[in-house]
Amino acid sequence: MHKPDTPTILAVDDSPENLDLIRNILEPHYTVKVAPSGALALHIARSYQPDMVLLDIMLHDSDGYDVCRQLKASDKTRNIPVIFLTAKRSEADEVQGFKIGGCDYITKPFSPAIMLARIKTHIQLKAKTDLLEKLASLDGLTEIPNRRAFDTALERQFSQAQRTATPLSLLIMDIDYFKQYNDHYGHPMGDDCLRRVAKTLQALTHRPGDLVARLGGEEFAILLPNTDLAGAMLRASQYRAAIEELRIQHPLNEPTHFVTVSIGVGTTIPVAPLSQADLLEVTDNALYQAKKQGRNQICRINAPLIR
Ligand code: GH3
Ligand code: MG
Ligand code: MG
Repeated sequence: MHKPDTPTILAVDDSPENLDLIRNILEPHYTVKVAPSGALALHIARSYQPDMVLLDIMLHDSDGYDVCRQLKASDKTRNIPVIFLTAKRSEADEVQGFKIGGCDYITKPFSPAIMLARIKTHIQLKAKTDLLEKLASLDGLTEIPNRRAFDTALERQFSQAQRTATPLSLLIMDIDYFKQYNDHYGHPMGDDCLRRVAKTLQALTHRPGDLVARLGGEEFAILLPNTDLAGAMLRASQYRAAIEELRIQHPLNEPTHFVTVSIGVGTTIPVAPLSQADLLEVTDNALYQAKKQGRNQICRINAPLIR
């Protein structure tokens, strides 16, 4: 049974008696899932993302070490801590468990109290690591993904687009005359404006894989996988209009007197030797063009044409 807000532990053992025993020990404290085989363990770990895996080494269908290796090899399951719980008691076995990425090693027969204490330690550590990772990828002011998160996503989406020969689009957006907005209304109002812009961009972004990030200052990026130039232009015009429609007063921004943005659009079906840096550069150039031509507008560059 799933208990909300309690961590989930996946116990893997080919003996039903062992699984019952482990379940009885863990269930008062955790949501428990069980798998009697390595194959099922991998399936459950991928689809349910448990907070920990308790892994027997000698399984009928496979070897626990191998299951651990496969968990550690995939982005989806790499961060799930694995504790080996095994009858294999030799020093070499234990060293091997740590070497392939296990975080702890408990030998059978085990003390339930010590097992629970060790699990608690690793669960707490995982929660702290998850929180740190989340904070490290969020912008403190707007609470949307930051430059670091953007760089990671761009790298991943660029390789994906290259593998699948699909278009990847990038929008870089910059608030017009924002220095003057700050000078006129003061920094706290400027911060408020940045938060409203960020919120608006996020609210308009629904597709999984699409990402809005604050690159720094009053500059934002929107990554649109599997989107061609026409699609990206359409999205850019929606974002541009949505910011103007916020009607945030900006008396020094002619002619609208509202906060507006300029957007550069870049699209590529990445083909070597084109790199992420090239896509960033052409999109940045497009933004520069949009500024030069009068601001509150969109300029585009189709990256493959620059080869
Ligand atoms: P342009 O239309 O050419 O983009 O002009 P601009 O004034 O927007 O551009 P510029 O790069 O000259 O100024 C950016 C300003 O953004 C400088 C600074 O006052 C403001 N800014 C940058 N980061 C923050 C922030 O975190 N909070 C606030 N309130 N203002 C910021
Ligand atoms: Mg600006
Ligand atoms: Mg700027």
